[in-house]
Amino acid sequence: MSILDENQKQFLLDSIRNIPDFPKPGIQFKDITTLLNDPKAFGFLIDFLTDRYARFELDYVAGIESRGFIFGAALAAKLEVGFVPIRKKGKLPSTTIAEKYSLEYGFDEVEIHIDAFREKEGSRVLLIDDLIATGGTAEAAVKLIQSAKGHCVEACFLLNLEELGGAKKVSNLAPLYTLLDI
Ligand code: AMP
Repeated sequence: MSILDENQKQFLLDSIRNIPDFPKPGIQFKDITTLLNDPKAFGFLIDFLTDRYARFELDYVAGIESRGFIFGAALAAKLEVGFVPIRKKGKLPSTTIAEKYSLEYGFDEVEIHIDAFREKEGSRVLLIDDLIATGGTAEAAVKLIQSAKGHCVEACFLLNLEELGGAKKVSNLAPLYTLLDI
């Protein structure tokens, strides 16, 4: 199984920019646009993930809006499997399944098309996003995959904000892999 060595982790970490106090005071925003516009870093990441997931016999990669789309679509194309978007409420045009999750104040909702896995029960699905913080979004996304009759074989995140505890929460629902724990 492919895992990153310390030099490779540092290389990826160095390609990600930290923006203090965005979008509100106190948040350290992890800006992956600097990884995306560095062809060496983006290429390395997608090659690494392709190598890791080539052996998982995936049917689909599902990405969480919106940065999960970027990594997920690139990876799905490399692996020659389908890509499925998990979107914020009201964006998907056909019949959907929705899942609510709690935020600090109030709640949010994500959706998947009911036929995202083409009615094939037990489709092997990799879930991907750029970052896991409290894990609310990822937990809802895993539940959506299950409700659409997919089997979430792993949930993969580039960055894990460890102290917020999301990784632990999601690992109760599906196997979890995080590349950079910070
Ligand atoms: P959560 O549901 O708390 O795990 O939040 C995860 C989602 O929010 C992911 O889609 C991330 O892209 C985004 N997110 C949360 N915190 C940050 C952060 N510090 N920097 C960048 N994105 C974040």
